[in-house]
Amino acid sequence: KVVCVTGASGFIASWLVKLLLQRGYIVKATVRDPNDPKKTEHLLTLDGAKERLHLFQADLLVEGSFDLAVDGCEGVFHTASPVIFSSTDPQEELLYPAVKGTLNVLKSCVKFPTVKRVVLTSSMASVLNNGKPLTPDVVVDETWFSDPLVCEDLEAWYFLSKTLAEEAAWKFAKGNGIDLVTLNPAYVIGPLLQPTLNATVEMVLNLKKDMQEANKPNYISTDVRDVAYTHIQAFEVPSANGRYCLVGHVTPVFEALKILQQLHPIFCPPEKLEDGSPAEPTFQVSQEKAKSLGVSFLPLEVSLRDTVESLKEKGFLS
Ligand code: NDP
Repeated sequence: KVVCVTGASGFIASWLVKLLLQRGYIVKATVRDPNDPKKTEHLLTLDGAKERLHLFQADLLVEGSFDLAVDGCEGVFHTASPVIFSSTDPQEELLYPAVKGTLNVLKSCVKFPTVKRVVLTSSMASVLNNGKPLTPDVVVDETWFSDPLVCEDLEAWYFLSKTLAEEAAWKFAKGNGIDLVTLNPAYVIGPLLQPTLNATVEMVLNLKKDMQEANKPNYISTDVRDVAYTHIQAFEVPSANGRYCLVGHVTPVFEALKILQQLHPIFCPPEKLEDGSPAEPTFQVSQEKAKSLGVSFLPLEVSLRDTVESLKEKGFLS
């Protein structure tokens, strides 16, 4: 079977490409710059890549850019989107590429009748921010959809970009008969395949010095290997449909820091946290629908251990 992965050099997509090759797929992978070894070498050296990985240049902002890569594919995994948490020009850096890019990819999918399903990497950013209070008894599920006005009020531009992109994707898919499934992971952590840091693994690294990061009430995480696995299930399981909250753990940041401190003394000691750091998660997220796709979520201890090991191996931590 032939599938396409957009933004293949990214953190999540690299794992997705690896697992797809392991399962015997032919993978047409798009990257922005095929001549940059930092973006491609880790892909080209994966098992099966020589025989079954094909790289294509594509940019979210260029109309028709994805046609060649999507042509002939049964499944399209659209992961490419800017992941930037502080932006000086949100319209250009985040909103425009996220929304226009998603529509560009979907327009390519409509052109080729070989495409049976599109799996979009959305986010809990498109779920959580609807203005409803998040209290310990609340169980967030797939019926929640973030409100763009709430994201704007919070100046949470990345959240807004993911919310608008998912909204646009559903509208376009319904209007054009596309079988769309979205996955909505939390902050994704786990071992890096690429030589560079992505924004959410960098957040783990920041827990060693950035008290602002540490003083957030919860650490809401999903392991990258679970995210990649669930993408493939979302394509392969015929009954997969709609949205899937994909949250491994909602953990008080205090608990996450306890684990990190045991792994490496450089991380912020939990006792340094401001008073009022909650002992229990301040809300819950339903795993029921995600588990119906077969994911069983790695323990947080394993994800953090492997993240720290990977940060050491890649030279970001001594
Ligand atoms: P990365 O930053 O590692 O990957 C993002 C990818 O998007 C890169 O391949 C990047 O290409 C590509 N991209 C960005 N802008 C463009 C553009 N204009 N044209 C083409 N490609 C572009 O992030 P992640 O792997 O963490 O995220 C992947 C997806 O998962 C995103 O959609 C993100 O919103 C979503 N997600 C991530 C979560 C997380 O915690 N990490 C949580 C929930 C959802 P290049 O390498 O050339 O920059």
